[in-house]
Amino acid sequence: MAGKILIDMIKLRAAVVENSTLELPEALLYPAGNTNGLKTIRELAAFRFTCRRCEDAPCITVCPADALEKDSNGIINRHTNLCIACKSCVTICPFGTMMTDFFTYHRNRDLFYNLNDERELEKFIKASPPGTVSLTDEDESPEKNIYRLNDRVLVKDYLYITENK
Ligand code: SF4
Ligand code: SF4
Repeated sequence: MAGKILIDMIKLRAAVVENSTLELPEALLYPAGNTNGLKTIRELAAFRFTCRRCEDAPCITVCPADALEKDSNGIINRHTNLCIACKSCVTICPFGTMMTDFFTYHRNRDLFYNLNDERELEKFIKASPPGTVSLTDEDESPEKNIYRLNDRVLVKDYLYITENK
């Protein structure tokens, strides 16, 4: 099996816009690489690559639970233990960083797949909209809008770059 998983955030966003009731399967990597709760690959990718890293971030200001903060690299981090899933941040973000189905409780548990498990990975690919998740031997390739999220996952997205990054 190819070494890396390529997730196309551009196509995923289009799929959610096209069908607002779509329940996208979610990919997780256990164990969590952070101490703030297990995050889906889509959430990690959105804050890392889609987010414009606003200086006075309206998502942080609007959050009634103080659940959002920037890390030392300016990347938004959501504290899952504080978030009350009100989706105010989703609504106020002027760049649509978070897809409309983000931060929803009571989601179908069968939609979560552990990418460390090869069989779950295969199921995740099959459950995802066509062409949005694939296996690849390629590496990060900025000219193709493909970036490395971690050792296992590559993400395709339009990266916002400023001179400060
Ligand atoms: S408002 Fe949107 S683009 Fe701005 S920092 Fe928050 S998530 Fe990122
Ligand atoms: S969904 Fe969570 S992170 Fe977003 S504003 Fe509401 S409490 Fe804060």
